[in-house]
Amino acid sequence: MRLVLLGSTGYHPNQLRHTACLMLPEVGIVLDAGTGMFRVRDYLVTPELDIFLTHAHLDHVAGLTFLFDVLYEKPVLRTTVHAQPDKLAAVQNHLLNELIFPVALPCDYRPLEKEIPLPQGGRLTHFPLAHPGGSVGFRLDWPGRSMAYVTDTTARVGADYIEHIRGVDLLIHECYFSDDLAHLAELTGHSCTTPVAHVARAAGVGRLVLVHLNPLVSELDPIGLPVARAIFPKTELGSDLMEIDF
Ligand SMILES: [Zn+2]
Ligand SMILES: [Zn+2]
Repeated sequence: MRLVLLGSTGYHPNQLRHTACLMLPEVGIVLDAGTGMFRVRDYLVTPELDIFLTHAHLDHVAGLTFLFDVLYEKPVLRTTVHAQPDKLAAVQNHLLNELIFPVALPCDYRPLEKEIPLPQGGRLTHFPLAHPGGSVGFRLDWPGRSMAYVTDTTARVGADYIEHIRGVDLLIHECYFSDDLAHLAELTGHSCTTPVAHVARAAGVGRLVLVHLNPLVSELDPIGLPVARAIFPKTELGSDLMEIDF
């Protein structure tokens, strides 16, 4: 299975990265619809597109408004946006307010079900994360392969969600801040390097790819990768258009 990172930062785009958007082209699945969403068009090969939102903060939903161009002249028969009911309501009442984006999007909306079957014999489940307004993490399982996407939460050893991501082949986890900004991670409901690496180790995942990296830091390594690798060696920095096979 191939995962493409279409947006690997949070908050706002910078010269290198767009905001949260991941895609599994073979099965027509998109996780979050940040500004990287415009790139879905280049990877779209399925007749159905399912978009799962972790929450409704702008850096995860702004790209929903790009759907007209994403789908233009594509043979897509159905597009569905899945999220928790309060997040769907926020998108419909606020993002799609007539003064902000006055056209109904070419998609339908579904409250996130407990377990959702996926093409190729897979299933998607979700679990709660601690973040202002609430967020959910996703776990996707197919026979013989699995991944989890955990963003917009404060990582800590002993976090409840570790049980939900245990043993996945691939963990995509946010790491907005370097360790010296741990106080900001705590304040804003985001993560810094050392606790994320500890979570990956505690969950016994196969590999860890870090996303939702601080867009204000222009260095190629905004979070201190060697710090993470000292705890969990199979750690990589995510980057836009990075393709990951798992
Ligand atoms: Zn975010
Ligand atoms: Zn958020």
